[in-house]
Amino acid sequence: MGSGKIGFVSLGCPKALVDSERILTQLRAEGYDTADSYEGADLVVVNTCGFIDEAVDESLGVIGDAMEQNGRVVVTGCLGARPETISDAHPGVLSITGPHNYEAVMQAIHQHLPPPHDPFQDLLPPQGVKLTPRHYAYLKISEGCNNRCTFCIIPALRGRLASRPIGEVMREAERLAAAGVRELLVISQDTSAYGSDLRYREDDWRGQQVETRFQSLCESLAGLGIWVRLHYVYPYPHVDKVIPLMAEGRILPYLDIPFQHAEPRILRLMKRPAHSEDTLRRIQAWRSVCPDLTIRSTFIVGFPGETDAEFESLLEWLADARLDRVGCFKYSPVEGAAANALGDPVEEDVKEDRWQRFMQVAALISEERLADKIGRRMTVLVDEIDKDGDSAIARGPGDAPEIDGRVIIQGGAGLHPGSFADVRITAADTYDLHAAPVEAT
Ligand code: SF4
Repeated sequence: MGSGKIGFVSLGCPKALVDSERILTQLRAEGYDTADSYEGADLVVVNTCGFIDEAVDESLGVIGDAMEQNGRVVVTGCLGARPETISDAHPGVLSITGPHNYEAVMQAIHQHLPPPHDPFQDLLPPQGVKLTPRHYAYLKISEGCNNRCTFCIIPALRGRLASRPIGEVMREAERLAAAGVRELLVISQDTSAYGSDLRYREDDWRGQQVETRFQSLCESLAGLGIWVRLHYVYPYPHVDKVIPLMAEGRILPYLDIPFQHAEPRILRLMKRPAHSEDTLRRIQAWRSVCPDLTIRSTFIVGFPGETDAEFESLLEWLADARLDRVGCFKYSPVEGAAANALGDPVEEDVKEDRWQRFMQVAALISEERLADKIGRRMTVLVDEIDKDGDSAIARGPGDAPEIDGRVIIQGGAGLHPGSFADVRITAADTYDLHAAPVEAT
């Protein structure tokens, strides 16, 4: 395979990463090699993000670098849904395709760099090519979204909700588990809506008819015997039904729910899914069933029209909800989003001040909740071992990779990435825990 080297740049969210993995898997299957520099590549593929203006700028910057240093560039991904933005800035790109359009990307690559002969199909690892470490993997259960949040253009970019039938999702999950994956991160734009577009149609899984539905997906994944972590869940009543699975330790006691705000008027302006639910009461009910539940969320401060009183009430809500892991964005308009028409923008310095205050409250809650774990035993999944082999970086049930905290283990001899370890928590700081292997305590 002397020719057919592809440089690949993957930008954006975990969902885009899954798309990149699929394209790379196909490339490997067809005998292409990957290059780790622009200069060493025969062609460069850039998988772009177009979610917010900064992501658009970053994508255009990367395409510019690839054009300058290589000159043969194929663009795909979310920003590809707005081809003129790309071709205006970089008229020389070879081809532009939108998100999840694997066939069109492959076609463009074939046209500009024909596949090498005699592909070595056998070289393809059974789980496909993973950009994430081998022991965890993202499992994408659907594309698109039927909600119309006013600050978001994802439905315009990615289309309406299209769920993958449950049999297909479960077979992929099973393959990943068989290939050594120890943790599956379930992702989509709206995980709780899974299957509603298919009217929860039944599909074959291990010889049984199973509904394509959020609850049956969680139950089926629980049977694989590996960690299962749920992302992008909305607080609809049917989510209550999976909390017992978490309490029984069958899926991780972890929910990533992007609340974005707590004030009913702002949530209505945002057109958030499940905006009329009494989320505080629901969180309390979940925690009474599953006290170890970790809740992660993101919020937006400075949404158009957000008053001082509404922001104060968001802070109070956060203090009452005591969410474990929290991210916060200052509102910034996205080209094409409905919220741009709302007017009444919040001043930049007010946004900044609100962001600072919000993050202070969130940090204090995180610190307190982590301190409560000192002295407890915990099973963690090891991600990395340091060079000297005497400490390890791991994650507990409450830590998703990349976005949450870590568990730093002192005296990690014998541990290796991808192994589970029993540890006792010895100390905590604002976002991370420190631990020792149970044998050593
Ligand atoms: S749920 Fe809202 S924020 Fe999320 S993708 Fe759908 S429209 Fe966008």
